[in-house]
Amino acid sequence: MDDCVFCSIVAGRIGSRRVWEDEDAIAFLDIAPYHRGHTLVIPRRHVVDGTADPAVWGEVAPAIVAVSNLVKTKLGAQGVNILSNAGSVAGQEVFHFHVHVLPRYADRPGMQALAQRDPGAGDDLDALQAQLLG
Ligand code: AMP
Ligand code: ZN
Repeated sequence: MDDCVFCSIVAGRIGSRRVWEDEDAIAFLDIAPYHRGHTLVIPRRHVVDGTADPAVWGEVAPAIVAVSNLVKTKLGAQGVNILSNAGSVAGQEVFHFHVHVLPRYADRPGMQALAQRDPGAGDDLDALQAQLLG
């Protein structure tokens, strides 16, 4: 789909900070992160959201687990929230299925802090990518 921003990222027409990929999925840093290391996992094929096709969950599952372990080992996250918004009323803004992997740290714990953006989370995303790939 030419007009889909995430299809363009998969195709390399738009840049992204990739941190993991396999045959079916890619993972890259969110451009406006809520927490340090906030990563999006997407299938390579275009699927609108996670309610459209159950098979797509299997395609992204290994990448979700890999990224979750990556942010724990490389960034020191102590946990993650794994979240996917389906439908604009639920907060979905990009209509190519994606799963948010939100690293969580002890200084900002709990569900209430999940949706509160860490003001420093977007600092130096290039360095953060290097840390995750290193
Ligand atoms: P959602 O609201 O669940 O659809 O999430 C869309 C996410 O995509 C938001 O967190 C955006 O910050 C993120 N996003 C949009 N465009 C890009 C992009 N070009 N590169 C990285 N993240 C993006
Ligand atoms: Zn797409």
